Amino acid sequence: MKPAPFAYVRAASLDQVFDLLARHGDEARVLAGGQSLIPSLNLRLSAPAVLIDINGLEELAGIAVQNGRVRIGALTRQRTIEDSHEIARHVPLLKMAMPYIAHPAVRNRGTIGGSIALADPAAELPACAVALGAQIELRGADGPRTVGATEFFRDLYETDLGPGEVVSAVLVPKPADGYRSAIGEFARRHGDYAMIGLVAHARVEGTALGDVRLVFFGVGAKPVQAHAAGAVLEGGEVGRASVQAAQDALAEDLEPTADLQAAGATKLHLARVLTDRVVGQLAREAR
Ligand SMILES: Cc1cc2nc3c(=O)[nH]c(=O)nc-3n(C[C@H](O)[C@H](O)[C@H](O)COP(=O)(O)OP(=O)(O)OC[C@H]3O[C@@H](n4cnc5c(N)ncnc54)[C@H](O)[C@@H]3O)c2cc1C
Repeated sequence: MKPAPFAYVRAASLDQVFDLLARHGDEARVLAGGQSLIPSLNLRLSAPAVLIDINGLEELAGIAVQNGRVRIGALTRQRTIEDSHEIARHVPLLKMAMPYIAHPAVRNRGTIGGSIALADPAAELPACAVALGAQIELRGADGPRTVGATEFFRDLYETDLGPGEVVSAVLVPKPADGYRSAIGEFARRHGDYAMIGLVAHARVEGTALGDVRLVFFGVGAKPVQAHAAGAVLEGGEVGRASVQAAQDALAEDLEPTADLQAAGATKLHLARVLTDRVVGQLAREAR
């Protein structure tokens, strides 16, 4: 199929973006990498009257390490993040996550801001943002504001992004020494969206873990932090018994419902398997 007709504007400045968003409201869509938006137009799942292309706005792209955090501009391509030495050094979780996102051709165009703004419940980057305690920077005609990733993702494809605003950057606090991350997922084919996935981020203290954050994706309307399972792993030595206790605690944290990929019970089973694998990766680092 072909998309419904639309007007196209290649924005020359953020002010022009805000002006167009104010004028066209719900009839306008921001175009970043186009890897989700263009298929949805072609399938006529969406038919905006105006596309506002932000790809020319250099100020929205790039990675900078400043004031104890890594600032990743919204327009930074997923491939750039994958190849960045700064990311590998300061937030290796983001580099680890990239091979799970689609294929190189998609990552060459897809942006971090597009993935965060879209808030697909099965996407890797929103879960990473929650696990890393990232802040999402938003810009509108009234200036910038930031919101914690946990609060930013509100519901199914629903975020804190207000009318007339764009995601301008993702701000990731540089993890202190000793923090480690791991990620795993099940997908039907490599590059597909996950049936279910898990991101883990924790402080490794000898053979124990502290400040444990386990964030699942593909099990609910938005990234789900497994607080009960994480609490079980706090402090004590990570081993067979504690991992099993964390797996049992998942019943408190997760209420996966059936989707096109799997039944809820299957997802809960896969969540247990992922907990074993992903926490196992962290534990190996703890040895
Ligand atoms: C075959 C295929 C497989 C894929 N597999 C995965 C996968 O496994 N995991 C995964 O996470 N993703 C996957 N994707 C999606 C891919 O990661 C997209 O790049 C991403 O979801 C959207 O980023 P984008 O820059 O392409 O955004 P676009 O498609 O341009 O935009 C997506 C939405 O976000 C809005 N938007 C974009 N940027 C901004 C901004 N800065 N501010 C406000 N709103 C904005 C747009 O208006 C639109 O509504 C896949 C895509 C394809 C085609």
